[in-house]
Amino acid sequence: MAQNKETGAQLTAQCPCGAASLAIEAMPTVRFYCHCTICQSVYPGDYGDATLMRADKVSVRTPGTITFTRHLDKGGLERGTCSQCNHPVVAFMNAPMMPKFAFVPAAVLPDRPDKPSSTRHIFYGTRARDVHDALPKTEGDAASMMVFTPSVLKVAFGR
Ligand SMILES: [Zn+2]
Ligand SMILES: [Zn+2]
Repeated sequence: MAQNKETGAQLTAQCPCGAASLAIEAMPTVRFYCHCTICQSVYPGDYGDATLMRADKVSVRTPGTITFTRHLDKGGLERGTCSQCNHPVVAFMNAPMMPKFAFVPAAVLPDRPDKPSSTRHIFYGTRARDVHDALPKTEGDAASMMVFTPSVLKVAFGR
């Protein structure tokens, strides 16, 4: 497990029923809403509400209660859901020339003042319904990937 140099403490993320949990090294900084059809099927509600971090910051505490499924979606995510309550818990993604990423649903993170707010909607073209907020909304697949790239690079290589 990676060392946390900043606080020496770890955050606990857990699904609504509590059967599935993760240890997270630090609160993620990037959060977004994803309206792709896979997020729509995995998340409760109309879209995914996820944070992005490096996979090496995340440890699965309860491997026995998380079911991983590989979806043929954007980037080929391996999505883990709680085997008891079915809520998404963590998804892992391997991208070429990048460190491995983890997507952790905002709903499983503890509510703290440093929990990030969502910054944008992506894959909005496949939305189940319109969302009326002031956040930027990107529709196409390629455009959604492109607009998200700076956040990905920041998470991958930034400090
Ligand atoms: Zn659960
Ligand atoms: Zn999605």
